[in-house]
This record gives sequence, structure tokens and C-alpha cells, in this order.
Amino acid sequence: MAARTTTITKPLSGELKNEGEKLEKLLQQWEEDIRPEMREDIHDPSYQDEEGPPPKLEYVWRNIILMALLHVGALGGSPWFPPARSTPASSVSLSWTSAPGLSLFFNEVHSGTDLGMAAGAHLLWSHRTYKTRLPLQIFLIIANTMVSQNDVYEWARDHRTQHKFSETHADPHNSRRGFFSHVGWLLVRKHPAVKEKGGKLDMSDLKAEKLVMFQRR
Ligand SMILES: [Zn+2]
Repeated sequence: MAARTTTITKPLSGELKNEGEKLEKLLQQWEEDIRPEMREDIHDPSYQDEEGPPPKLEYVWRNIILMALLHVGALGGSPWFPPARSTPASSVSLSWTSAPGLSLFFNEVHSGTDLGMAAGAHLLWSHRTYKTRLPLQIFLIIANTMVSQNDVYEWARDHRTQHKFSETHADPHNSRRGFFSHVGWLLVRKHPAVKEKGGKLDMSDLKAEKLVMFQRR
């Protein structure tokens, strides 16, 4: 039994290692091609938190009130929204004032804005994982502006900081902040270490992009 296991696993693990090396090489080449200058989002394990208790969370009341209103509005709005007037089958259409029309509209907006975050602020501007022409950049930055999660420059700087100094005080989404790490992060002030380490990142690629700097104004 034992002998059989070794004959099966040995070549398999060798093959896996081979595949792993190939994949790593491919990723390396891919990174070198697309983002030769961007290294600021790679984890730096040399940075560690200083000893001592973490500073108290400072609430941002403006954002807390805005978020509360937004969520109460969303909760209250949907079930009691006046249903579409009953219309003869021949004239059924999705009007912007009907509930399905409105929710479809918001659905579309939501998909668009998601794209602005995922494809724009995250993959394009934080990680430089692809290049694209101006028209798509304009679409992505408009979609991103509608999400109102800070501008692209600030979001990308925070996100690079998150990757580089992950799970330290300099990580804006440090999981030790509990509710305020990924959900409520806009409701409290950033830890001073986020500003300190984030301020030292090389952001020259974004500073050179007129569109990103235009949105930041
Ligand atoms: Zn990322």
C-alpha cells in the first residue's frame, strides 16, 4: 500500500512543481511586460506595528449620517414604492417612473459603478494589470465617481498601502479593526500609519495621468 502511494505521488508532485514554476515564470513575464514600473503593491513584510495599544477610533459623523440616510432610503424605498399603474398589455413598457423600470435603471447604474471600482480603481489604477485607451478610461472614471468611495488617486494609494502593509496599522482595511475594516471604513478616520506609509508610496504613474488628477480636483 505504502509503496503504491509513493509511486503515484512522486511523479505527480514533480509535475505539479513543474507546472507551478511555469506559472510563476509566466506571471513574472506578464508583470514585466505590463507593469515594469509598478512595485508599490507588493507585500513588504519588513514593516511591523509598533508595540502598544492601538489609538482610539475617530468617527467621521458626516459620513455616518450620509450612510445612514442612504441605507434607510434604500430599505424604506423598495417595498413601499408605488407599483406601476396597470396598463393594457399593448402599452406595457418599462417607464422610468415604474418600480421595475426604476430598479432596472439602478441595477444598470450599479453594474456600471461596480465596473468603475473593480476594473478601474482596482485593476487598472491600483495594480496596473492592463492598459487601455482614453474612451474606456473616461467611462471608468465616471462610473467610479458615482460610487463616491474617495477619488481614484486616493483609493489606489490606500489600496497599494493595503497590499504592501497588509494586516498592520498602515493597512486601511486592517482586519483587527473589525466592522471598520471592510464595511465601515469610511465612517472612521484613517490610522495615522496609513497616512504616513501611504504618503511615502511612489504614485508618480497616477500623478502623470491627467484624467486621474482631473477627477481629484
Ligand atoms: Zn488589490
